[in-house]
Amino acid sequence: MSLDCASKHYPFQTPPGQGEAIAINEQVKWLRSPLPLSLNHINCYLLRDEGGWCVVDTGMNGDAARQQWLDVIETQLDGEPITRVIVTHHHPDHVGLAGWLCDTHQVSLYTTEAEYLYTCAMNAASGDGSRNAPYWEVTRYFNQTGISETDRNALLDNKDYNHLVSSVPAAYHRIQDGDRIQIGSQQWEAITTRGHAPEHLCLYCRELDILISGDQVLPEITSNVSVSPTVPEDNPLDDWLQAHDKMATRVPDSVLVLPAHQLPFTGLHGRLQEVIEHHRERLDALLALMDQPNSSQRKSAQQLTREMFDKSLEPFQNFLAVGEVVAHLHYLLAEGRTKRELIGQVYYYGRS
Ligand SMILES: [Zn+2]
Repeated sequence: MSLDCASKHYPFQTPPGQGEAIAINEQVKWLRSPLPLSLNHINCYLLRDEGGWCVVDTGMNGDAARQQWLDVIETQLDGEPITRVIVTHHHPDHVGLAGWLCDTHQVSLYTTEAEYLYTCAMNAASGDGSRNAPYWEVTRYFNQTGISETDRNALLDNKDYNHLVSSVPAAYHRIQDGDRIQIGSQQWEAITTRGHAPEHLCLYCRELDILISGDQVLPEITSNVSVSPTVPEDNPLDDWLQAHDKMATRVPDSVLVLPAHQLPFTGLHGRLQEVIEHHRERLDALLALMDQPNSSQRKSAQQLTREMFDKSLEPFQNFLAVGEVVAHLHYLLAEGRTKRELIGQVYYYGRS
């Protein structure tokens, strides 16, 4: 979903190219790592550290992404080394090359506890060595959404995480909300949030007036906020909306936001409000779909997803879309604006 806001400004119009790291200022460099997805890049950052450069987010494991790091390290850092690796959260485009970078340069990984443990858990549950039979409650969640059996089986067969994440370092340095992390001459404040990931890390430097926002704040697209099959009764949208209030309280509107995708921008508080309004509109749209005069019958999450997106999606995109719809439905359930009924194996939703 693309949103726009007149209050945003983009001081850097051209993103870095292959092998390039653009100086945001003397302390921060910006590079892009390629992704083999419709969203074809992730932004990674380098912070001037004592004796070298600290990496923030690493890209997804793959030959092109590794070559990008090799080129940047060789040509853009004046021969200075990588000093450590910070990861905002466990998604493969962020943590994918952390193990490779940490091992190659013999430097430490820094992240939050939940994101580190999620990375370990997802890595252990994927790949050829993982268990073959899907867990009954995960299968039950898929059935309850009304996702087709074909889609469900395609999703349960997908154990790609450990191909997208090079390896997981066996040790890490824990960052907690409110920590002040000294990186070179600057202090960066850790701000953690839930909703997109369990303990997503943002870094705010008051002196530089910069926020490294990961996937917590993006300028035009909205991050996925989904109920995960591994936490089937979760209410991540409530966490996500609370996270927006927290960001507005802890970080001033004046900052330059360095996001994980798209371009650096200013206009943080307007963007936070815009995303909150976007989700309020989605909640209203879902309620409206349950309120059509000719559709008094209740609808499954899959039916509501088809009507919301008005097109068919391939299994993984559909999984993300259904997860988002279920997140909004769980929010409405918690507010008492929706009720659901289990008929057979599927939940059907209607207005309260
Ligand atoms: Zn993410």
